[in-house]
Amino acid sequence: MYDLIIVGCGPAGMSAALYAGRANKSVLILDGKSYGGQIINASLVENYPGIDNISGFDFATNLFNQIKKLGIEIKFERVIQVKRNEVITDNNNYSTKSIILATGCSYRKIGIKDEDKYLGKGLSYCATCDGNFYRDKVVAVIGGGNTALEDAIYLSNIAKCVYLIHRRDIFRGEDKYLEYIKSLSNVELILNSQLLEIIGNDVITGIKVKNNDGSIKLLDIDGLFIAIGQVPNSQCFSKNIEIDKDGYIISSDGVHTNIDGIYVAGDVRVKDLRQLTTAISDGAISATVAIKEMEDIYGK
Ligand SMILES: Cc1cc2nc3c(=O)[nH]c(=O)nc-3n(C[C@H](O)[C@H](O)[C@H](O)COP(=O)(O)OP(=O)(O)OC[C@H]3O[C@@H](n4cnc5c(N)ncnc54)[C@H](O)[C@@H]3O)c2cc1C
Repeated sequence: MYDLIIVGCGPAGMSAALYAGRANKSVLILDGKSYGGQIINASLVENYPGIDNISGFDFATNLFNQIKKLGIEIKFERVIQVKRNEVITDNNNYSTKSIILATGCSYRKIGIKDEDKYLGKGLSYCATCDGNFYRDKVVAVIGGGNTALEDAIYLSNIAKCVYLIHRRDIFRGEDKYLEYIKSLSNVELILNSQLLEIIGNDVITGIKVKNNDGSIKLLDIDGLFIAIGQVPNSQCFSKNIEIDKDGYIISSDGVHTNIDGIYVAGDVRVKDLRQLTTAISDGAISATVAIKEMEDIYGK
C-alpha cells in the first residue's frame, strides 16, 4: 500500500510529490500521457516569482528531475476511477492510504465536423506549440478570450496573415491585447461570425465562416487555431467525486474533496486563478494536509 498516490504529473502533482517525498512517504504518480502537464506547451514563462524567464519545457523538466531524485515512483497509466483507498487505471489497481487528484485541464473542442480528422493536419489548439509550422502562411484563430488574443499576437510574428474570428463584436479578453492587435497590419478581425465548415483534403486548405447576418465567407487558410477555453479532466471521477456544473472538482477549503482521504490540487479544482503559482501552491498544501491526516489515522 502506498502512502500517497497522485493522479497527474503536471505542476500541481509534481509539487505534491516533492513535499510528500521530502516527508519520506511512499509516493506513486500516475499520468495518462507524460510528465509536465500543460506548461510543457508554454514557449516562455515570465510570471513565476523568482525566475526571470524559463521555457515551459525546462520548468517541467527541472521539477520532474527534482522529484525523481527523491525516488518518487512514476508510471504512465491513465486513471479511470478512484475510491477511498484505491486507484484504478487502464492496466492496474493500486492500494493507497491517500490520493491527490491533480489532473488539470485540456483544450476545449469546438465540436465541428472533421475537427479530429484535421488535428495535426492544419488544426491546432496551441499556438505556442504549433505556430512555427505556419511561417509566412495564412492562419485563423477562433475565440474571444485572452488565449485567442494572445495566440493572434503570437502568430502575427510568424504568419503572413492572421484572421481572428469571434462570434460576438465584444471580446472577453483584456483591452490591452485588443488594442495591440488593432495596431497590427497583418491581423484581420472577423467579428459576429462562427466557424461553419473546415475545407481540405489531407490538410486544411480553407474554412467557411458564417456571419450572424447569414452571409457566408470562404477563407483560404493553412492553419486553424481553436482557442475557446479549457475543460477540466474530471470526467473519470464524476461517479463519486463532487464536481460543479462546468466539471471542476468542488472543495470547500481548496484541498479536501467530498471523500475522506481524497484531495484535489491545481487547475482541476474550482478556483479563481489557474496558473503555475497556484498549481504549485495547491500541490504543496494538499500533500501537507494529506500527510498530517494519514498520520492521524495510520500513525507515522
Ligand atoms: C500554452 C500554455 C501556456 C501557459 N503559460 C503559462 C505561464 O506562462 N504562466 C503560468 O503561470 N501558467 C501558464 N499556463 C497555465 C499552467 O500551465 C497551468 O495552470 C498548470 O499547468 C496547471 O497545472 P496542473 O498540474 O493543475 O494541471 P496540468 O498542467 O493540466 O497537468 C495535469 C496532468 O494530469 C494528467 N491527467 C489528466 N487526466 C488524467 C487521468 N485520468 N489519469 C492520469 N493522468 C491524467 C495530464 O496528462 C497532465 O499531465 C499555461 C498553459 C498553457 C496551456
